[in-house]
Amino acid sequence: MAAVTQKSVIDSVPKGLYIGGQWRDGGDGQTIAVDDPATGKALTHVAAATVADGRAALDAAVAAQADWARTPPRDRGELLRAAYERITERAEEFAMLMTLEMGKTLAESRGEVAYGAEFFRWFSEEAVRISGRWSTAPNGATRLMTMKQPVGPTLMITPWNFPLAMGTRKIGPAIAAGCTMVVKPASQTPLTMLALADLLRECGLPDGVLNVVMTTHETTGAVMEPLIRDPRLRKLTFTGSTPVGRSLMEQASQGILRVSMELGGNAPFLVFEDADVDQAVDGAMLAKMRNMGEACTAANRFYVHESLADEFSAALARRMGALTLGKGTKDGVDVGPLVDEKARDKVSALVADAVAKGAKVLVGGSVPSGDGWFYEPTVLADVPTDADMAREEIFGPVAPVTTFRTDAEAIRLANDTEYGLVAYLFTKDLSRAITMSEALEYGMVGVNQGIVSNPAAPFGGVKASGVGREGGFEGIDEYLETKYVGIAL
Ligand code: NAP
Repeated sequence: MAAVTQKSVIDSVPKGLYIGGQWRDGGDGQTIAVDDPATGKALTHVAAATVADGRAALDAAVAAQADWARTPPRDRGELLRAAYERITERAEEFAMLMTLEMGKTLAESRGEVAYGAEFFRWFSEEAVRISGRWSTAPNGATRLMTMKQPVGPTLMITPWNFPLAMGTRKIGPAIAAGCTMVVKPASQTPLTMLALADLLRECGLPDGVLNVVMTTHETTGAVMEPLIRDPRLRKLTFTGSTPVGRSLMEQASQGILRVSMELGGNAPFLVFEDADVDQAVDGAMLAKMRNMGEACTAANRFYVHESLADEFSAALARRMGALTLGKGTKDGVDVGPLVDEKARDKVSALVADAVAKGAKVLVGGSVPSGDGWFYEPTVLADVPTDADMAREEIFGPVAPVTTFRTDAEAIRLANDTEYGLVAYLFTKDLSRAITMSEALEYGMVGVNQGIVSNPAAPFGGVKASGVGREGGFEGIDEYLETKYVGIAL
């Protein structure tokens, strides 16, 4: 196989809108610059959709829906399986593409390729296991039959932080269930989605089943809203920030759409007095530094029992201080840049606020000199609970540590947020692990582990972190309606 270079992967990606099986330019010829966050310079340009292009994409999805729903489940499953294998074969290309447009290191991008591809393998197996049930009504007079049918044309809006996996987690179950799609990737990271659409085309996905439109950040709302309000659309699935999710849910209420929302998080990371400190620090490195902290699952608040806090913070600061920053494509680099200047400035402002309110910087705490949107891996001790970062997603490589004395205090602190995506807890006491897992108001809990994402598990949040689940047995249900047929004897 030829060597994978920056130029070769960028040249190989189609740059147009993908509508009804055709690649095409946007109606008004506008394009979007895709920047390299490590340099701030443009890598390439892709087509931008107009309102009419958005409508054309939905037209194509609607036209393809009936035939697609009739396709044998085995065929849909085999297609997903072929796509899984092809992504795996082309892992280096996908990894390079993500590193270039998003900034994460190649090692992290390879991890995302493996994780993202697994959703296709998982849902290739689920496609043939869709079933209904049959029962006798309590009065014995009628029979009750239920069947599962695809929801119908679905709009998928995805974020920039996991350009592949946030797509496959939606596209996989939609293909398995028999739904057609319009996908809008984040304006910063469209290349991975375009490469994925092309790969699915090569695997034989029929025209119109998957359509991809890109929009500029300025035109996104104007192009998406008419689609969400179009009576032919049956479902909206969104991964992104809570404020945007709220506004999309309002728009979706017009057509009473099926809605799945994977929104922001503010994960607490609890270390109890009986925890194994080395294991907790390993978990903290994963929960904090995966994706440079730019993950909805990133540990945002570290609550450590006062008896362990100094030992834990010092060990974490040593590990964080030893990380090497740099362009994600370079060997030996552990931490890439943040996605853009705005993201980097937000992290910087949150650290300044915490320090002004009394936090101590154990390591990091600054913007390094030079190009790119880098921020130093940072550990803060004695972070007061009124610091802004206790309420807001940091979305960067900053670990704020606060102490607690009792289990009741730990739970109160952990649940004191509008979010409810994931919580992490470290303890060797099984009964404490169960009691705490039950008391945490979160959709997911990691016990003695700093990572919960798994294609075989239901991923999702409660409260302002969203509704619905992706992955697991639950993931395909989001794309299926239950129809009940009553049969008189
Ligand atoms: P974002 O600003 O909400 O953007 C997400 C997507 O929504 C992008 O494609 C964006 O397009 C689009 N969008 C923005 N405004 C819109 C509008 N008015 N109408 C329709 N679409 C609109 O979020 P982000 O900064 O990309 O992603 C980070 C957020 O995602 C964090 O809060 C993170 O926690 C969350 N997230 C959650 C999960 C989860 O599973 N719960 C997973 C990953 C990320 P443009 O690019 O054109 O703005």
